[in-house]
Amino acid sequence: MRAKRTSPAGRTLTAVTRSEKETLELARDLARGFRGREVVLLIGELGAGKTTFVKGIALGLGLKDLRQVCSPSFTILNIYQARFPVFHFDLYRLEKEGDILDLGWEDYLDRGVVVVEWGEKVPFEISAVRAFIAKGEGDERRFTIEIPGSNS
Ligand code: ADP
Ligand code: MG
Repeated sequence: MRAKRTSPAGRTLTAVTRSEKETLELARDLARGFRGREVVLLIGELGAGKTTFVKGIALGLGLKDLRQVCSPSFTILNIYQARFPVFHFDLYRLEKEGDILDLGWEDYLDRGVVVVEWGEKVPFEISAVRAFIAKGEGDERRFTIEIPGSNS
């Protein structure tokens, strides 16, 4: 993993993984430093590894049974009880920008770690970790992870 400072306020990590396990470990290591109120927006096409990344986050937050973690593409929200509550959103089926407001989404922000698949559909400004995932050849996945500073 490589880290570079992009501004005094935050940093950007880049990483390449070559298996599902490596993606799991990347997300696990990131989440080990979480304090319980982070928002993580995951941005990448179908099959990029967003749900795998959420599994890794849940693992890093101490969730024992990772079988609970799956894309809530019909239910929109899954909740896991790890060291902190994990609110796992999947906005794939969200059609209009306003629909996310109907979810009462902001109620979750100060109650635990919020992780969002199809995070580019969140229509408002928010301080969040943004993980961009690009598919490469075969099992290769390229991650660009923007982490905001504590003052943002
Ligand atoms: P998404 O939620 O973005 O649709 P998933 O995490 O559900 O993606 O699925 C990713 C798929 O890609 C899985 O079938 C997984 O086994 C496969 N895969 C292959 N290589 C990787 C990798 N490096 N990281 C994550 N998943 C990978
Ligand atoms: Mg998914």
